[in-house]
Amino acid sequence: MTDSTLYNALLILVFAMAPITYWSLTRMTAPYGRHNAGGKGPEMDTKLAWVVMECPSVFAFAYFFLTGPEPFKIAPLILFAIWQVHYVQRTFIYTLQMKTSPDKKTPVMIVAQGFLFNMINSYLNGSWIAGVGRSYEASWLADPRFLVGAALFATGYWINRRADAILRELRRPGETGYKIPRGWLYERITCPNYFGEILEWTGWAIATWSLAGLSFAVFTAANLIPRAFANHRWYKEKFPDYPAERKIVIPFVV
Ligand code: NDP
Repeated sequence: MTDSTLYNALLILVFAMAPITYWSLTRMTAPYGRHNAGGKGPEMDTKLAWVVMECPSVFAFAYFFLTGPEPFKIAPLILFAIWQVHYVQRTFIYTLQMKTSPDKKTPVMIVAQGFLFNMINSYLNGSWIAGVGRSYEASWLADPRFLVGAALFATGYWINRRADAILRELRRPGETGYKIPRGWLYERITCPNYFGEILEWTGWAIATWSLAGLSFAVFTAANLIPRAFANHRWYKEKFPDYPAERKIVIPFVV
């Protein structure tokens, strides 16, 4: 199999997996965090699980980027930095800051699935921005697609970080229970962190103007929208006073 046959096969796989993932997650919510009731096979420490699951997006992405045809040009390097700003934070800083109980575990099956997806996704996106399919010249940085995409990514990143920080602040040191998040975008939707994440990768798809970026944006939405619905249902069941006017994941829409 040539490199380009493998690349195209994996790209098609991610696009094909998106509707299947969406469909299956509307029937069974992925069993981690509040939705992990146990009984899904061997489990591991939750902080370690996040590092293992997300680390391909830092290291494998860097490997595929650096071994690509032309990484050391200004536009690819800036795209690389945009990606790593998100994933270094997610893999190491977010994980260190998480307030989760050591008793709360994550199924190894979830970690394995996340790890595998992140490997494939890092290959598709890392090698793409290093020039396997097209060159990104310095002029790309003034292209409206890059500028709009980068602005959307930055907005999504800010929303995602702030939303995760608000959730973190709900727990005092040592607390592990759940409270109703209040204020800011939480007055509009249940899952601003997922909304921010979807905006980020939509921005990435536009800024790279690539099928690799689009496949990740589509997959992220397919993964997070059903989970946002499940979180919303969960809050309504757990908290009878959960604000009825709150939408789920896209302000004013759903
Ligand atoms: P959640 O919102 O379910 O949880 C985030 C953290 O906040 C967890 O530590 C959770 O604790 C805690 N928390 C959540 N709700 C409450 C509450 N009401 N009261 C107190 N603490 C709370 O997010 P996920 O774990 O699903 O995702 C974490 C991040 O990873 C998000 O930013 C998300 O966008 C991103 N992500 C991205 C994906 C992608 O496809 N690109 C896929 C999955 C996640 P606990 O663990 O105890 O439930």
